[in-house]
Amino acid sequence: MKLKFPILFILIAAGLNVFAQPISKQQQYQNDSTVVSRLATILLTNSTGYEDLRILCKTIGHRLSGSTAAAKAVEWGKNTLINAGCDRVYLQPVLVPKWVRGQEEAQVIMQDGQKLNLEALGLGNAVGTTADGLEAKIVEVRNMEELEQLGVENISGKIVFFNHEWRQGVINPFKEYGGCVEYRWAGPSKAAKYGAVGVIIRSAGSGYDNFAHTGSMRYDTLYNKIPAMAISYLMAEKLQRMVRAKQIRAVRMFSNSHFEPDVLSYNVIGELTGTDAGKEIITIGGHLDSWDVGEGAHDDGAGVVQSIDVLRAFKKLGIKPRRTVRCVLFMNEENGLRGGKEYARVAKLNKENHILAIETDAGGSSPRGFSLSMDKTKKEKVLGWKNIFYPLGVYDFAEEGGGADIGPLQQAFNTPLMGLEPDPQNYFDLHHTNKDVFEEVNRRELTMGSVAIAAMVYMVCEHGL
Ligand SMILES: [Zn+2]
Repeated sequence: MKLKFPILFILIAAGLNVFAQPISKQQQYQNDSTVVSRLATILLTNSTGYEDLRILCKTIGHRLSGSTAAAKAVEWGKNTLINAGCDRVYLQPVLVPKWVRGQEEAQVIMQDGQKLNLEALGLGNAVGTTADGLEAKIVEVRNMEELEQLGVENISGKIVFFNHEWRQGVINPFKEYGGCVEYRWAGPSKAAKYGAVGVIIRSAGSGYDNFAHTGSMRYDTLYNKIPAMAISYLMAEKLQRMVRAKQIRAVRMFSNSHFEPDVLSYNVIGELTGTDAGKEIITIGGHLDSWDVGEGAHDDGAGVVQSIDVLRAFKKLGIKPRRTVRCVLFMNEENGLRGGKEYARVAKLNKENHILAIETDAGGSSPRGFSLSMDKTKKEKVLGWKNIFYPLGVYDFAEEGGGADIGPLQQAFNTPLMGLEPDPQNYFDLHHTNKDVFEEVNRRELTMGSVAIAAMVYMVCEHGL
């Protein structure tokens, strides 16, 4: 009996890994980079993400919240997650607003009676005109300060042309977008404050082309709700010349865009259940809805298929994540954020433990980095992994931020956030336009985005945050 104890002890101890040498940093790095390189290989050779995107864009197309196409996208998302091999796939109900674009027209009437179509595109959530449309003189302002200076006496009864230019000299287009988007989001009510009857904005976009950019706007309840449309870069240049040469007698606007009652829709969720830290959750996701122009390919079909790709790659390689990895295809990011808010609300209700959320909603171009919204200690931990990411071309961890859909999660739990940062130079040429179609997405660039997220998820699954 006495002799048996040490043998039993050795067997148990070996099972518990008591005698295992602590793994060196170098060995750990080798192990991690081997897995990351396997993830890259399987995704680059076997990923169906690009094909998923083709189906989403070409058979469903754009999918504004509340539309029939958005409902089809929910079904598509559910089936795609099931086929990716998730342990659990479910729909999370959420009521979404339904804004419907109707007929839209904006026309310049010249002093000599000639007419020119401005090829305007209504801003999302904007009201329509009366059935007769509206006709008024036009007044150009380049920024909010000019609007204020002109005041009620020069603005009242007129259509305001917000001619705020995108500064091409700004290197990071996301920084410039932040300044331009104010004219789209708040411009209509700012103009209505001074008695304007309609608004036309120079698009918040970087392209030198004739694609107008739509996007969300919000009315301030203090002022009249007035119709608002965007025109392309080239059209804005033309309109600017005509206004300044005083060639315009009036501008005519017509729209019957409107809201209909809220519609029941869903966040689509797929999970790989964690093995030993199963209660800790890592959320990755993009948004399933899109604006009702183009095909929502870069914004955010790319993010949707990348998020699914990550789970599929784990499954294919037989990686059993230590922490639960949850892929969320959020609904209604573009004009309400109801999906993101509902996801956080339910998570709080269920007392879930969210240790990280990653959003990919900046297009499907080559990944360059991750924005990090978390405390210093966690940032340092992530920066300690940078050698894992260099070979992927992912090096930039300097920016703050995460993503609109995961913002509510941080508010609810103080969850650390990350946002995938692809090369941004092309994004605002396409964003919210008819040009945001499948053909604009490159397979390898899109897939490298999936690789970057898969690598990050793997690192946090293994080492926590
Ligand atoms: Zn988006």
